[in-house]
Amino acid sequence: MNTEYAETELAEPHLRRLLGTAGLDVEYVSGEGNTLHHRAGNGSLIPVLDFAGGYGSLILGHNHPEIVARARELLDARSPVHAQFSSHPYANRLAAELNRIIHRETGVEEPYYATFANSGAEAIEAAVKHAELDRGARLSALLAETRASAEETRAAVLAGRATVAAPVHERLGVPRPARDEDGIDLLIAEASRHNAEVAGRPPVLLALQGGFHGKLMGSVQLTHNEGYRAPFATLGVRTRFVPMDRPDVLKEVLEQESGTLYELRHRAGRVELAEREHPAYCAFLLEPVQGEGGIRPLSRKFAEDIQEFGRQADCPLVVDEVQSGMGRTGALLASAALGLRGDYYALAKSLGGGLAKASVMLVREARYRPEFELVHSSTFAKDSFSCHIALKVLELLEADGGRLYRQAAERGEALAAMLRRVAAAFPDVVKEVRGRGLMQGFEFHDQSGARSPRLAEAARSGLFGYVVAGHLLHAHAIRTFPTASAVHTLRFEPSVLLTDDEIARLERALTDVCRIVRDQAAERLAVP
Ligand code: PMP
Repeated sequence: MNTEYAETELAEPHLRRLLGTAGLDVEYVSGEGNTLHHRAGNGSLIPVLDFAGGYGSLILGHNHPEIVARARELLDARSPVHAQFSSHPYANRLAAELNRIIHRETGVEEPYYATFANSGAEAIEAAVKHAELDRGARLSALLAETRASAEETRAAVLAGRATVAAPVHERLGVPRPARDEDGIDLLIAEASRHNAEVAGRPPVLLALQGGFHGKLMGSVQLTHNEGYRAPFATLGVRTRFVPMDRPDVLKEVLEQESGTLYELRHRAGRVELAEREHPAYCAFLLEPVQGEGGIRPLSRKFAEDIQEFGRQADCPLVVDEVQSGMGRTGALLASAALGLRGDYYALAKSLGGGLAKASVMLVREARYRPEFELVHSSTFAKDSFSCHIALKVLELLEADGGRLYRQAAERGEALAAMLRRVAAAFPDVVKEVRGRGLMQGFEFHDQSGARSPRLAEAARSGLFGYVVAGHLLHAHAIRTFPTASAVHTLRFEPSVLLTDDEIARLERALTDVCRIVRDQAAERLAVP
C-alpha cells in the first residue's frame, strides 16, 4: 500500500471530522439484529443498540440469518449477478409478488409494471422520467389532434362548407376579414401560436413541504430542504412545494397551473374554438410518512385531498414509500391505510434486506409506456442477486399470514408508548412524539435560546440532535440520529426484532437526555 495516500484522509474527511465533533465517528465492525459492534481501544467489541436502522433499510435487522443464508446460497451456486439484456424470471417473480401484495393492500386490481433501480433516489427519478415521457406523449397526441382538426376546418372553410362567427376572431384577438377564406389561416396561426406557448411551459412538479425524495441532480429538486436543493437549482426542474393540510393551496395550484389548448373545429357548418385540457402536470410526489422531514405522518384527510387533486388535474401521484414501505408501518405500503392509491410507487431501502442495493419503481397499467424500457436502464439494476434477496425479504414478511407486519405494528406501538411516556414526563423538553409503526420521531423544543451556551450553540448551528446522538452513543451505547431536514427530531427506526428490554434501555437513555436538557447541564454530556 502506498503509505503517503493511506495517511491522507480522502473519503469525505470533512464529514468524518464533523461526526467526530459529536463523537459519532466510530467504526462498526459487525452487526446482527438491532446490534452493531465497534472495537474499543483494547480490542474488545462494544455492542451498540441501533435505532437508526440503516436509515430505514433494516426492517429485518443487520445480517438476518435467513437473508445471509440466501446470499450464501446464491454465491455458492455461482449465480450470475450481471446478465443484462437476457431473460430475468426472478425480476418478474419479484414484480408479480409486489403486485400481489399491493393488490391485496389497496384493493386495486390493475397491474403495476416494475422498473428496477439501485437506490431510492434512482427509483424516484425513474418514476418522474416515466411520468414526463407519458405527459409528453399525451401532449404530442393532443397537439396532433388540434393540428388535424385545424386542417380539416381550413378545408371546410375554403370549400364553403363552414363559416366563422365573430366570437372566434374575438377570442383569438384576430381581426375579422371580409371573407372567411381570407382569414382562416390567420386564425389557425394564432391558435397554434397559443398552443405552442402553452405546450412549451415547463412541466408542473409538485411535492410536499418537508418532503425528501433523494439527493441526485433531479430528485434533489423535489426535496424540500433548501440546504440540499438550492445550490443545484440551476441544474434541475422547478418544484412547487405544497404545505401540509392545505387543500386551499391545492385549489390555488389548480387555478394557476392548469391551461387549455385551442382546437379549431367545425360543427354543423360553423367554425368553433374548443378548449382541450393541457396536460400541465408531470407528477405530485409525497411520502405517506415523511421520514427526513421529521417523521410526519400524512393525515387521512389531506391524503384524500391530494387524491382528489390528482383526479381533477390528471396529475399522477408518485407515492414515495422508500422509507415508510416494506412493512415498517405494519403493511408493505404505509399509504394503503390512508386510502391513497398511487399511480406510481417507489420502494427501496429494506427491499434489499440490508445486504443488497435495490429499488423499484412501479407504475399502473393505465399510465404505463412500454417505450420507457428502451430509454431507461442501469448496469446494476435488476441484477439477480438483489432480486433474489428482495424475494426472500418479501417471503419473510409474508410468512405465517403476515406475522412480521403485525409484529412491526405491535413493536412500533410499544416503542411509541414509551416515547410518549418520556414526553409526558418532560413536556418542557419534548415537543412532540410522532410516527407510525417502527418509524417514530421524538422532537425536542428548540434550544437556540437555551441558558446553557453549549446547548444553545449546538441548536443554533443545527447540531443539537447530533450532540444528543453523541451522548446516547457514548453514555448509553445507543445509536440514532436526527432526521436529515428536521434536526430537532430524533429518529427511531429499529427492526421488527425490537425487544421490550431494548425499549426499556432507550427509555432510560432518553430520560437521562431529557434531564440534562431540563437542568441545562451540558457538563453531564458524555461528549463535551
Ligand atoms: N425517498 C425517501 C422517502 C427517503 O427517505 C430517501 C432516503 N432517505 C430517498 C427517497 C432516497 O433514497 P436513497 O438514499 O436510497 O437514494
